[in-house]
Amino acid sequence: MLPEFELLRPKTLGEALDMLAEHAPDVMPIAGGTNVVVALRERDVRSSVLMDVSGLADLRGIRAENGHVVVGGGTTITELVESPLIAEKGMPLAAAAVQLGNPLIRNRATLAGNLVDASPAADTAPPLLVLDAEVELASKAGTRTVLLDDFLVGVNQTLCQPDELLVAVRWAAPDGAAAFHKIGLRKAGACSVATVAVRVACDAAGRCTKARIALGAVAPRPIRAHAAEAALVGTQLTDEDIAKAAKLAAGATSPIDDVRSTAAYRLHVSEVLVGRLLGEVRAAM
Ligand SMILES: Cc1cc2nc3c(=O)[nH]c(=O)nc-3n(C[C@H](O)[C@H](O)[C@H](O)COP(=O)(O)OP(=O)(O)OC[C@H]3O[C@@H](n4cnc5c(N)ncnc54)[C@H](O)[C@@H]3O)c2cc1C
Repeated sequence: MLPEFELLRPKTLGEALDMLAEHAPDVMPIAGGTNVVVALRERDVRSSVLMDVSGLADLRGIRAENGHVVVGGGTTITELVESPLIAEKGMPLAAAAVQLGNPLIRNRATLAGNLVDASPAADTAPPLLVLDAEVELASKAGTRTVLLDDFLVGVNQTLCQPDELLVAVRWAAPDGAAAFHKIGLRKAGACSVATVAVRVACDAAGRCTKARIALGAVAPRPIRAHAAEAALVGTQLTDEDIAKAAKLAAGATSPIDDVRSTAAYRLHVSEVLVGRLLGEVRAAM
């Protein structure tokens, strides 16, 4: 049995922002509902007013715009999987999307829902972190853009305010090569034990000019491994350079024991996966 709640159904983004301004903080957006309905069942939702944003056309769509990829917050994971633009200019996100949940979940679940829920194991976050993605937040007062790395604060905590909607995620068409890997307890339909995304660019001499490494499910929020990234820049990506970066990346994690894994396994697998994915992107360049 679900608790009783009032359901608001705005028809336009403007109407939705007016409703949020009127009811905040006692109002919660619901998109695909794949997290919210579970939380309702567990009586873990404090708001008595839900606002259905799944019908808002302004939150949908994937497009190229001035050298950037722009994805509406209400875009479903299935739409990400099926998008040629995401396959071409958002490769690690495409790889993560196809492994998120199962087909039923992917048909309902949205990108904004995944990011605003802010699970440490949110699968879209590490790929978007290595793409240097920004999120666009709209309220009745206006719009602001925040780097995803700043937006994610902690377990189920983000910079999204109660009167704001995450309307879009954007990133510049990426240079270099990228890779993503997810470890779960099953090959499909499993919450992540650990995820790693990497992106590396090199100059004509094979020297690393840019490195991005992000990990999920190994800290209170999906994280960038900044020290490991800095250690790679300027190197020739030798086996030794990669091994050093992998060790530094594992050092950036703060994993816990939970029902899915031990902290020790997560620490070990972080180093192994970062090393393996850096080797893969080196071979792809
Ligand atoms: C069986 C199952 C399997 C799953 N597997 C995975 C998995 O493998 N990997 C993974 O990462 N997740 C997984 N999930 C979690 C979930 O499906 C995803 O996090 C999903 O992307 C949430 O999107 P949603 O649209 O359903 O969010 P909702 O449940 O509708 O909302 C989630 C949160 O986001 C907020 N919100 C939604 N849209 C907006 C918006 N536009 N602006 C501001 N706030 C907004 C809501 O208020 C709420 O706080 C799974 C869930 C289930 C039930």
